[in-house]
Amino acid sequence: MPNLTIDNKQLEFKQGQTIIEAARDHGIEIPHFCWHPELSVSGNCRICLVEVEKMPKLVIACSTLASEGMVVYTKSEKVIAAQNAVMEFLLINHPLDCPICDEAGECKLQDYAYKYSVGESRFVEEKVHKDKRVALGPRVMFDGERCISCSRCIRFCDEIAKDPELTFVKRGDRVTIVTYPGEEMNNPYSMNTIDICPVGALTSRDFRFKARVWDMSSTNSICVGCSRGCNTEIWVRNNEILRLTPRYNEEVNSYWMCDHGRLNTFKYVHEDTRIDAPQIRKDGQLVAIGWDEAINETAGKLKSFNREQIAVIGSPYATCEDNYLVTKFAKSVLGTGNLDFIHHIDPSFADAILRTEDITPNSLGAEVAGVQPSKTGLDIKGILNSIKEKKIKALYLIEDDIISSFPEFENAIAGLELLIVHSGNHNKSTAFADILFPAATFAEKNGTFINISGMVQRIRPAISVHETDRALDGMSMSRLDKFGTKWDRWASGKRMDSKPTWKILVSLSKVFGSKFKLSMAEEVFAEMTTSIDAFKGINYDDIGELGVKIKTEFSNKEKVS
Ligand code: SF4
Ligand code: SF4
Repeated sequence: MPNLTIDNKQLEFKQGQTIIEAARDHGIEIPHFCWHPELSVSGNCRICLVEVEKMPKLVIACSTLASEGMVVYTKSEKVIAAQNAVMEFLLINHPLDCPICDEAGECKLQDYAYKYSVGESRFVEEKVHKDKRVALGPRVMFDGERCISCSRCIRFCDEIAKDPELTFVKRGDRVTIVTYPGEEMNNPYSMNTIDICPVGALTSRDFRFKARVWDMSSTNSICVGCSRGCNTEIWVRNNEILRLTPRYNEEVNSYWMCDHGRLNTFKYVHEDTRIDAPQIRKDGQLVAIGWDEAINETAGKLKSFNREQIAVIGSPYATCEDNYLVTKFAKSVLGTGNLDFIHHIDPSFADAILRTEDITPNSLGAEVAGVQPSKTGLDIKGILNSIKEKKIKALYLIEDDIISSFPEFENAIAGLELLIVHSGNHNKSTAFADILFPAATFAEKNGTFINISGMVQRIRPAISVHETDRALDGMSMSRLDKFGTKWDRWASGKRMDSKPTWKILVSLSKVFGSKFKLSMAEEVFAEMTTSIDAFKGINYDDIGELGVKIKTEFSNKEKVS
């Protein structure tokens, strides 16, 4: 490999890399506004100027190719003077309205103003004023005064979303961003421009003014909007999710996520439709009962059916741990092989960027975890037909509103003698339940999903449920902080009395005399690694923040969609 020297360190680089890329590979950060690793180079912000020996002038590190023997200085006097000048220039017309700007606290301009500027301006004239609230589209708001004309947003629409919608108009200090005449910025990935805008010029119309970034905690998670499994951060204040943002994972979603995933996959967690306690049908109405009563009632009712009369439906929305336990419960406790789940396929959702036609996060995980009929058991079509024929009389359904997706289930389910449902929210299917368990959502539990390409990825609790609170009772604040548990998770009154599906099944199994010694999701995963080949040899630590690929083939089984 060729070598160059940066700040007196000799470093290897890959042929074709620019100085900024070579430096970054070795942990040397050269400041940049317009450069982005996934976008073409525009070279217009000039903050990445560096000094190169034998070159007469400073050069921009984002577009200058590294070469053998090159000697680069990123902190020389000349470079620092240039950085100060660029910052002074960029701040001439900037409104400096950080106290009311959503970006404050995570703003590159703000950070660089501390790091690379002298902190004073010689500009005493009136600043140029521009439009401050321009809706570029249904989801993104533009503030012309904050824009530093880096063109990242334009290049993102052109190169990543493949939907050119934005352009510069005017010149000099009047330059601004507009959509093309008659167009709005409405591509399915438009909100990524908010993340990559290095200032607060582009903000989310959904999140605007809801919270300062330092008032929120963030938890690494996975989007549940489709089987891509984009890596995300869940941002929470007062036990309420306020936004999702993408988290970099080169192998899964790069820096991006789609607007659907960002906006439509978490609000149900706080809706009034949440089920906040176990419920049982009495005189035609669902009424709240305690956990012990719900567990005992469920066991008692299930025991009155023989194994051929019972079917179990797992879920591509639930974790591998949930699906593993539902499989174990069906096969070893209820003794039924009538076990399957439903694939939710929507070809119109898919695109060539990230979105997949499977609109659930864990079909592959449900399958790998074992949610499949036994040799003599019924698959989903067989279960549906047998319910219609009244051969299946009791159905155990976890975390899937099968009636909303597949209305043919409605008449069949109405004829069941017993329907037990685990669900986070009330929906068309829970309306028929005889016993209803409140299931923790993806934002309230630990677990794993397997994405479309076989990547096992972890979700973590970002908000609390009662169960978590009990575990934390009595802990000092310093201990809570040590556990990474933020005060707002603990202190808020908005909590659900819900539990992960796998945990409910562990309690239920005990009443049947089967003692599953599992008290943490990690233990469920550890058990899966001993009984499922695809998981062998991996643990939660290996999965880490970016996932681990398992060797598995996709199922060829016929999909109900
Ligand atoms: S709106 Fe943001 S991303 Fe777009 S050009 Fe202005 S500063 Fe750059
Ligand atoms: S592509 Fe799929 S996983 Fe990624 S953000 Fe969109 S809905 Fe979520």
